[in-house]
Amino acid sequence: MIFRRLADQLAEIGRSGLLRRRLVREGPQGPRIVVAGREYLAFCSNDYLGLANHPKIVEAAIDAARTYGVGEGASHLLSGHSIVHERLEAKLAEFLEVPRALLFSTGYQANIGAVTALAGPEDAVFSDALNHASLIDGVRLSRAQVVRYPHADLEFLGRALADSQARGKLIVTDGVFSMDGDIAPLPSMLELCERHDAWLLVDDAHGFGVIGPDGRGSPAHFGLSSPRIVYVGTLGKAAGVSGAFVAGATEVIETVLQRARTYAYTTAAPALLAAAVEASLELIREEGWRRERLRRLIAALKQSLHGAEPALAPSDTPIQPLIIGANSEAVAASAALRERGILAPAIRPPTVPEGTARLRISLSAAHNEEDIARLAAALREVCPSSAAAHA
Ligand code: PMP
Repeated sequence: MIFRRLADQLAEIGRSGLLRRRLVREGPQGPRIVVAGREYLAFCSNDYLGLANHPKIVEAAIDAARTYGVGEGASHLLSGHSIVHERLEAKLAEFLEVPRALLFSTGYQANIGAVTALAGPEDAVFSDALNHASLIDGVRLSRAQVVRYPHADLEFLGRALADSQARGKLIVTDGVFSMDGDIAPLPSMLELCERHDAWLLVDDAHGFGVIGPDGRGSPAHFGLSSPRIVYVGTLGKAAGVSGAFVAGATEVIETVLQRARTYAYTTAAPALLAAAVEASLELIREEGWRRERLRRLIAALKQSLHGAEPALAPSDTPIQPLIIGANSEAVAASAALRERGILAPAIRPPTVPEGTARLRISLSAAHNEEDIARLAAALREVCPSSAAAHA
């Protein structure tokens, strides 16, 4: 019976066009990847700066493995915290111009840890409707009262904050929205936080390294700095490695360190990854040409698809979604691109709202102009209305 129930559920997932399949990559991450012996032009990773296979970062990891081994053997709170982790935390805090940073093994854990450390059953959390799953899960686990506000709706958010009688208030938002590529209106959100004595947690998984001066992320993009901002950055996307951190005021970071279960009850990520991130951080800082090139590629893609239907969603970040609507059509478009040697994933509910299935095209500084031209030409062929608009 129990097996039968799972089989029925899986069949239903298949019928709704929601079955997920994994690509088995045969070499490193990059703009061209090999799957089942065939090379594809790939627009499906978050390696925005093209650092995931950078020789300097690889060397740093190898050197650190020789010195520190490959396993930490314990949580950061026992004996898992090395001098390399300690140094990286200081460098991240210095880079972001905040008092402290705390490393986590993944962004998923960092978000859950930060939200649950800062909000409990007596508090209220105000959460954007398009927030990432890890924030949503953090909010659920916190058992705080939840106000889910419509995407970037500041009026709704302001009213909800004014109406709330909760002991503590925490706004949580993606900095750059992962499936839409737009940037949260942080300046007005911070003003609301000041007016209503709230924290502002910004999950900048897609902003860290990519936007703002020197890649310092979405608050820096708006020139914002405030002890109310709890900044979560991830290190597996633009930084090209793995892991995450929470950065902000000393009291905040110490609270997360003391209270987050996803910090205390998990083994520290290997020091070799922290060493790799140190090398990556130098490249993020020093090689501004990577962000410059991304900007040019983003502009080139928009220009080549100008007037096409469906249009690219409005986004100035490397996340360029093409919203198609029906699950099956998004899957068909992705499959047609794949036949042409191009990978761009179809994103379906529950990752995005019902009826907004899309191709999530993500650009990298490792792409070049010809790659973008090839993608645009293929998109015009495979998206039927887009072809019709330009017949
Ligand atoms: N936040 C956002 C907005 C993300 O897109 C992701 C990863 N897709 C995460 C958090 C989780 O980060 P990690 O992959 O390091 O667990």
